[in-house]
Amino acid sequence: MAQRRKLVAGNWKLNGSLSLVSLFEKGLDNVNLPNVDVVICPPAVYIPSFKSGPVLGGQNLAVNDCGAFTGEISGEQLASVGAKYVIVGHSERRELFFEDNQLVAAKFARAQNAGLVPILCVGESLETRKSGDLFAFINAQLQAVLDLVGISGFTNAIVAYEPIWAIGTGETATPAQAQEVHEFIRAWFAKHDQACAESVKILYGGSVNASTAPELFAQPDIDGGLVGGASLKLEEFITICTAANK
Ligand code: PEP
Repeated sequence: MAQRRKLVAGNWKLNGSLSLVSLFEKGLDNVNLPNVDVVICPPAVYIPSFKSGPVLGGQNLAVNDCGAFTGEISGEQLASVGAKYVIVGHSERRELFFEDNQLVAAKFARAQNAGLVPILCVGESLETRKSGDLFAFINAQLQAVLDLVGISGFTNAIVAYEPIWAIGTGETATPAQAQEVHEFIRAWFAKHDQACAESVKILYGGSVNASTAPELFAQPDIDGGLVGGASLKLEEFITICTAANK
């Protein structure tokens, strides 16, 4: 089985500034991380400000490609300023901006049409986990995308398992809890296509930090991380990327 290359993506959310861009450009230029892809998803306005350093991604894209949709940014526009990836279906978009599984699937397809690699976020609330519906919930999130794009749509895509209860709370899923869901997701892919299951990257996200990253990234089905808060701190982010570089 081919070894999957690890990837760490930083999600800056509604944070950052031109000086943070410049700090990360210089900081990431000066580290040697040959075995990990390092991606930063800053607010979209900062994407063209990066002249070197990480690979770049958007945090969201419009479901339309153009038209009277004030405030929206299309996948083509993100790609035109240098984005290679885009986060789709982050739990904050699902919860705060009412994005349902169908809309997330449509955005996933739009991203690919624009030549971007979607990073599809899935993950349950604490309530769902406690109710015992965890796997059915994740299944529905994946199935909506499969129904629209088919299994071939996942050959150039990334999945991020992000339990909502672990996002921004400081409460990281244990490596065993995370691995259990990652294994479920990989088995879900295997039911549809074994080669896709073996190649698809599944990132873990939810309060990843410098001390939790090594054990999380050592799990067999965890291929890196989607990192929020800790991606705003250069030294800590580099430590996390270094853990994935092993
Ligand atoms: C995220 O927003 O995707 C995330 C994982 O945030 P944090 O690392 O802050 O929990």
